[in-house]
Amino acid sequence: MRYISTRDPNAVGLPFSDVLLTGLAPDGGLYVPQTYPQLSDELLDSWRGVLRDQGYAALAAEVLKLFIDDIPAPDIEALTRRAYTEEAFGDPEIVPVTRLGGSNVWLAHLSNGPTAAFKDMAMQLLGQFFDYELARRGGTLTVLGATSGDTGSAAEYAMLGKEHVRVVMLTPRGRMTEFQQAQMFSITDTHIANIAIDGVFDDCQDLVKTLNMDADFKATTHLGSVNSMNWGRLVAQVVYYIASYLRVTYSNDTEVTFAVPTGNFGNILAGHIAAEMGLPIRTLLLATNENNVLAEFFETGVYRPRGAAETLATSSPSMDISKASNFERFIFDLVGRDATRTADLFHTQLNEQGFFDLSETAEFEHLNERYGFVALASTHEDRIDTIREVFNDYQVLVDPHTADALGPALGFAGITDTPIIVIETALPVKFAATIEEAVGFTPPVPPRFATQLDGPRRVTDLPDDPDALKRWVTDWLSF
Ligand SMILES: *Cc1c(COP(=O)(O)O)cnc(C)c1O
Repeated sequence: MRYISTRDPNAVGLPFSDVLLTGLAPDGGLYVPQTYPQLSDELLDSWRGVLRDQGYAALAAEVLKLFIDDIPAPDIEALTRRAYTEEAFGDPEIVPVTRLGGSNVWLAHLSNGPTAAFKDMAMQLLGQFFDYELARRGGTLTVLGATSGDTGSAAEYAMLGKEHVRVVMLTPRGRMTEFQQAQMFSITDTHIANIAIDGVFDDCQDLVKTLNMDADFKATTHLGSVNSMNWGRLVAQVVYYIASYLRVTYSNDTEVTFAVPTGNFGNILAGHIAAEMGLPIRTLLLATNENNVLAEFFETGVYRPRGAAETLATSSPSMDISKASNFERFIFDLVGRDATRTADLFHTQLNEQGFFDLSETAEFEHLNERYGFVALASTHEDRIDTIREVFNDYQVLVDPHTADALGPALGFAGITDTPIIVIETALPVKFAATIEEAVGFTPPVPPRFATQLDGPRRVTDLPDDPDALKRWVTDWLSF
């Protein structure tokens, strides 16, 4: 299996371990597999047994082996076993799937990881693969990132105790929830540094860009990232689609619908890949909040990313994204894997006019029937209603991101005979204020998070100044 850039007309192939440690391709494109491996009926049936008898980690290894041929199979098995433990995920099933009462709607719980959000599913595995590959190559990596909450803490918990990795995470000072601050700043691993920048999230992101543009600094500090464009994160996510499918169905004759809260198009892209591999998915319900760039594209054929100023702060904040960084991978498939055309859309047209328009194309006309997407955007009121309704009807509490998908899923349940699997992406405790507004009480803090909330905080305050940050990082790494 080789990987190609979505913008490379020569389709030069790289092995998995090379694209693992790289974010973007040098031409600005994203890496995708040359072809999607295909699932036969026999394979899915045997995986049903693997999941039942050996568990989630064993299934993950089987799926990953289809995408990775430059890491020995026993090593892949060891890495997934270390990533997906009951200790880290608080549940022996790792991704338990539960049914909402007697309805046809199921919840796939991806929120049981160390930071109580679905990004742990990919990050925990990425941490294992990074450390393994760096040890194999004899290198180190300094992960420099900016976060407004979820991604940063998931990355830090994934890199805990990883010998070959350092993490420097920039956060906007005083702008994260109490829970998020406690999770990140309570970490005591000396390889992990939290910096509170005197600014907003965009200032933090600009600092990351500025430091990455300094070639000397980048080389001497071995700067890298674990951003959402990393292929390793996506392949980890394909596994939970397959596992939930196997848990909900008895045979491969049953088609299912997945309802997916998505922002960067990362969560749902993994569903698209699973469908392209032949997992029996009839519909992918794409759920966004008020930041509806994706829903707009699926409705109109026009993709128009927005700037920071046009991005709304909503009550499902991890989906407050106005430029879907993984969308290019889907469009590459949509236009028949034509790299020249993908580069024209995402490089030339987005840069020159700020949008592209596929509404008049045959590909867009056949999109829904070919790929099964149905896109819907929710509002704050929709989320509140869904959280309240589901609590009243089923005594189940969901977080606002999950509610963005669960609301449309409950509506869809009346018009489809397929089981609907809703991807649950966070624990309600992370978004206590919204839960309180919906149901009138604060969600209980699970015991394993309680100690974090009370512990001491380790964080360094720095001004919004690239030179001060460079000096600090250089000093820190020299210890
Ligand atoms: C990141 C995140 C999402 C969206 O995932 P994408 O990869 O951006 O599609 C949804 N819910 C929660 C809680 C998240 O943290």
